[in-house]
Formats: sequence, structure tokens, C-alpha cells
Amino acid sequence: MSANHSIAKQRLCAVLTRIETACRAAGRHPDSVRLLAVSKAQPAQAIRTLAGLGQRAFGENYVQEALAKERELADLRLEWHLIGPLQSNKARLAAAHFDWLHSLDRSKLLPALSEGREGRPPLNVLIQVNVDREPSKHGVAPEAIGGLAEAVVRHRGLRLRGLMTIPAPLDLDHRRRAFAALAELFERLRRDHPEIDTLSMGMSDDFEAAIAEGANLIRIGTALFGSRPVRRHAAEADTESLH
Ligand SMILES: *Cc1c(COP(=O)(O)O)cnc(C)c1O
Repeated sequence: MSANHSIAKQRLCAVLTRIETACRAAGRHPDSVRLLAVSKAQPAQAIRTLAGLGQRAFGENYVQEALAKERELADLRLEWHLIGPLQSNKARLAAAHFDWLHSLDRSKLLPALSEGREGRPPLNVLIQVNVDREPSKHGVAPEAIGGLAEAVVRHRGLRLRGLMTIPAPLDLDHRRRAFAALAELFERLRRDHPEIDTLSMGMSDDFEAAIAEGANLIRIGTALFGSRPVRRHAAEADTESLH
């Protein structure tokens, strides 16, 4: 067993133990929370190692970066989630290559997502909500959720699954209130869309609070992979966001 393998195993076990503890504290079954491993900025080999330990679902923020890794890992049957903001001109490509989209924030993307999905099982879609109404942040305002949800279900090839949020990076009490607010918005949306089942909230340093408030999909990067390598070039990130 290589050193990398045993470090990955320790980190995964530690995260699974934290999930279990948080679930027990909340009176929930540990199986009610899905773990999404956020592998942005991590090499394909690190994903392969974690996949070897049984992890299936991986989250990426950038379409091009994810496609390169998907090609390299095509022999594994992994589930890919796009969790970063999506540019309009990449919507078609994203729909063709990911299983889930966590960051839907405008109806303008829907025709391209629908077309890009043709001939495949539906793309699972979460609406990203800007619960804290931060001016510079992605996501729709709470009052816009209903309209966007209606637009999603009118498009062939898309399956509305629920909501996602990234709270403002304030103290834990604040973030917990943001998680509670999203859970309430989720229950409200479920009255009109009883099929929705996914509440994506919580990251490495706040997922216990998210679980306490009802998260059933948590997005964990650092706690599983260690700190992220710095992106090779700032310019590369810029290129990606311009395309
Ligand atoms: C990077 C990222 C994560 C993971 O963050 P960690 O703090 O490393 O766990 C989760 N969700 C989104 C949307 C991200 O961009």
C-alpha cells in the first residue's frame, strides 16, 4: 500500500466518522447523507486512489479541467458533478459530460443543457440559491426559485432534484442559519415539486452544521484531499472563465 493510499484512507475514514457523529447527533441515519468528493485542482491520480477506496461521486468546478480527468479515468465508473458556476457557452458540453449540475442560476442555460443531454438519461439539476443575498455571488434570490424550477421541468432531458447553497464565509452560527433557511426553501419548493430529494450544502469546515439542518449531499474537498495545490497559472483560470 503506497503512502498516498494510506493517507487517503485515513482522511476518508475521518470524514466518514465525522458524518456518522453528526448524523447521530441529529438523530439521522448515516446513509441519509451522500458524500461528494470535491476534486478540483487535484490530479486524476488522487481521484483514482479515492475511487479505489469506494468513493464514486466527484465534484469539479471547471468544465475543461473535469473533462481531462474524466478522459483519464474513463475505465472507472464514476459519477461527475459540476459544482462551479457555468458559462453559457459551456452549457451544452457540461450537459453531455456531467451527471449532476449543482449551480443552475438562470433559465438562459436551459435550452443548451437540454440539447446537450439528447439521447442520454436526464441530467440531475440543483438550483443554486444565494441565501445570504451577497451582491457578488452566484445563485438565485430565494423568491426566484419557483420560477426557475418551473422552467427546468419544462425542458426535456433535465430532472429537477433540489437546491444547493454556499453561505457567506462568516462564523459558523451564521452559516448554520443559512443552511436552515435553505432547508426551509427546499420544503416549500417540495410542495409544488414533490419529486425533489436533494439538499446540497456543507463543505469541509461546516458540514456538521449542514447535516444538523438537513443536508443530504455534502461537498467535501480539503478534508478528503488535503489543501488544494495552487492553480498552475492565474491566467489559466481566467482563460477557463472566459470561454
Ligand atoms: C471547493 C468547493 C467545495 C469544497 O470545499 P472544501 O472547503 O475544500 O471542502 C464545495 N463546494 C463548492 C461549490 C466548492 O467550490
